[in-house]
Amino acid sequence: MGEKEEGKIVLPGDFICATEEYVAGEHTYKDAGGIYSSIFGMVKFDDKAHKIDVEPKVEAPPEIKPGTIVLGEIIVLKSSFAVVGIDRVKGYEDRQVKMEGTIHISNIQDAYISGIDKGFSVGDIVKAKVVSNDPIRLTTVDENMGVIKAFCPVCGIPMEKKGKMLECPKCKNKIPRKVSSEYRTGVF
Ligand SMILES: [Zn+2]
Repeated sequence: MGEKEEGKIVLPGDFICATEEYVAGEHTYKDAGGIYSSIFGMVKFDDKAHKIDVEPKVEAPPEIKPGTIVLGEIIVLKSSFAVVGIDRVKGYEDRQVKMEGTIHISNIQDAYISGIDKGFSVGDIVKAKVVSNDPIRLTTVDENMGVIKAFCPVCGIPMEKKGKMLECPKCKNKIPRKVSSEYRTGVF
């Protein structure tokens, strides 16, 4: 038989190997000339039991396209754009996501903004909409987009929304932000 391909991703009906050495285990079946997969999954060889299993693989990567809503943390601020570490994608809330996107200064808000730091700060949690996906570019122009959680740079506690500003309930530090209308509402 051919070489074993441990970890190979297979589709239903895919040939896995000939039957001389192995028996069909979970999510596989025997057919003419060999063992086939009955599901979308990953091939596992059990050498002790001479058995082949296919482990179900349900975690397809989330589809990111224009209009997709994402949640993430501001990880880098440059003069003309912010980098967002995306960790949630709307519609795929059960998935672990690890992606990056950028928000250009012109995509922060509708009105003029004098600097990127008037929109965001590193550590802010933002809700944003995908503009294009290769690479991922985001916008927070919509009223419900922007910062949904931020912490006081001095006290480290969550800030409160005061109009278009955020205010620390403890030290009364006031900072401008592109605040989402859903700030700290838990809506995603
Ligand atoms: Zn404070």
